[in-house]
Amino acid sequence: MFASALGLAAASLTPNAASAQQPATEADVVHGQAIQVDVDARDVQRGIFHVTETLPIASSGVLRLRYPEWLPGKHSSAGKIANLTGFDFTANGQTLSWKRDPLDVFSILVDVPAGVSSLTAKFMYLAPLERDQGRVTVAPAMLSMGWHEVSLYPAGQPVRDIQVYSSVRLPAGWTQASALEPTGDADAGNVVHFKPVSYETLVDSPLVAGSNYKRVDLGSDVYLDLFGDEPGNLDATDKQLQLHRDLVTQALKLFGVRHFDHYDFLVSMSDYLGGIGLEHHRSSEDGVPPDYFTDWDKRALNRYLLPHEFVHSWNGKHRRGADLATPDFHEPMQDSLLWVYEGQTQFWGSILAARSGLVTKDQALDMLATVAASYDQKAGRKWRPVIDTTNDPIMAHRNPAPWPSWQRSEDYYVEGMLAWLDVDMLLREKTKGKKSLDDFAKLFFGGTDGDWSVSTYRREDVVDALNTVYPYDWSTFLKQRIDDIAPHAPLDWIGQGGYRLTFDKEPNSYIAARQTNYKMADFSYSLGLSIGNNGEVSQVYWGSPAFDAKLTPGTTIVGVNGREYSADVMKTAIDDSEGSDAPIALTVKRAGRVSNVDITYHGGQLYPHLERVKGTPARLDDLLAPLK
Ligand SMILES: [Zn+2]
Repeated sequence: MFASALGLAAASLTPNAASAQQPATEADVVHGQAIQVDVDARDVQRGIFHVTETLPIASSGVLRLRYPEWLPGKHSSAGKIANLTGFDFTANGQTLSWKRDPLDVFSILVDVPAGVSSLTAKFMYLAPLERDQGRVTVAPAMLSMGWHEVSLYPAGQPVRDIQVYSSVRLPAGWTQASALEPTGDADAGNVVHFKPVSYETLVDSPLVAGSNYKRVDLGSDVYLDLFGDEPGNLDATDKQLQLHRDLVTQALKLFGVRHFDHYDFLVSMSDYLGGIGLEHHRSSEDGVPPDYFTDWDKRALNRYLLPHEFVHSWNGKHRRGADLATPDFHEPMQDSLLWVYEGQTQFWGSILAARSGLVTKDQALDMLATVAASYDQKAGRKWRPVIDTTNDPIMAHRNPAPWPSWQRSEDYYVEGMLAWLDVDMLLREKTKGKKSLDDFAKLFFGGTDGDWSVSTYRREDVVDALNTVYPYDWSTFLKQRIDDIAPHAPLDWIGQGGYRLTFDKEPNSYIAARQTNYKMADFSYSLGLSIGNNGEVSQVYWGSPAFDAKLTPGTTIVGVNGREYSADVMKTAIDDSEGSDAPIALTVKRAGRVSNVDITYHGGQLYPHLERVKGTPARLDDLLAPLK
């Protein structure tokens, strides 16, 4: 292949080239003196961010400026270096030459002559304009900007030691929100200057700006920053806002303390800005549909997002897996503890959504039934343990996969949650309701109110904390659920919680909402496939009747039992299959060919539910109930 052959040639040539030259002297910036990053973000129409960066220079030679590569929250090498363009480096009125390090393409090497005390770097960041170019971050009425996109940092120091003054110039009439604190200095045009922070904090403090904006005080120094495509998107009712206040109250009751001095939910309610859910220490980027408030009943699925991202301030930002806490954005991250970082956040995000009332108890139970059933039938669990999926951010980059149920995809999120449900229910059972994962949360994620340092941990620390809550062989317990290949998902919590997993012909509320919101029909638990409203197969479960019939994603189902395809026609065919010997006869279209495919299935429509087992302790209800 062309790309890999070229890569090989470059790598094999470099040692010779290097040995033929004298190693260049390394230039350095003045340590302890702040750099300045000024961004002109007015060209929203074309998505061009103009940056001027000023660095204090201590010594001449080759200055290595890095573009953030390994991004917190992405847990992977995800910096969009190819979109950083138009380099223009100057000092003392002279243009300086630059080149890229071919062995580290995120490094720009600038020749700094003697006698230079200040270097000016000008460049442009080009925001993706179409979805296939990356997440779209500019829209007619809003933009989102991460400082990792629009800045370079000098190599040679931990990023927490680099101080940065920053400013952004916004389109006229637009307002920004972020965790950064404006200085309040007046300036011509719509420029916001920010108080200096470390480069680490700057990168952890993205901003959203827009013309339709409303800020809502949720109490306890937590704010909802709402940006809409249209002014009407901001029309939240008092009751809806109260549920978000209850989220804050319930989270603080759970963890006991805050690991922020202030916190901003940066909520983009948009059809045009790319979707996002990204955690930061004192803020989060929360992308939801424009009718998040105005079509409340339809948007229940989106109400798990803010609780999840909020929990990350404690789990992920304050407490962080030791192998994930790197000194800069160049050193590779390792993701071995994401089953805590994301798994327990998935757990608490779901529980807090229910405890706050953002979703009802029944909606939460339907969500849990759905993930229990779907993870239990993932064939990939026969070869791949959860721990191996913690490598997925680095190796798969969330690229669409042909057979996700066999490949597994970041299963440490949801199966991590299922494992933590097992922990919680075991604690409640063994201690007769006196202890639960709430006690672990206070112990492990608590500490001092307002302390927003990073506190790293290893797996042993997790086991120790569990043993402090209740002595048990947690090491083996976790190994069985995280490290071992397990033919079934961790589902002990269902019985211990006072429920059983059942299947019937009625989609539960979670599946029904998914079918409506994603415009598809979900036959995962019967035929083992889901189908878009246009008849195109979107997913086939490995090992399912649909898989055995050799159906694939991308195939369009044209006809079912001699009738034109619709979701209702398919449902009737599945119902009729019960008690019949005949297969379900499909006419399908793929790659310019039309063919007939028979699915051998006689089980009728099936959808999962959690059904209360009368006379047993309702521990799951206790977990989902708001803290007093
Ligand atoms: Zn997360």
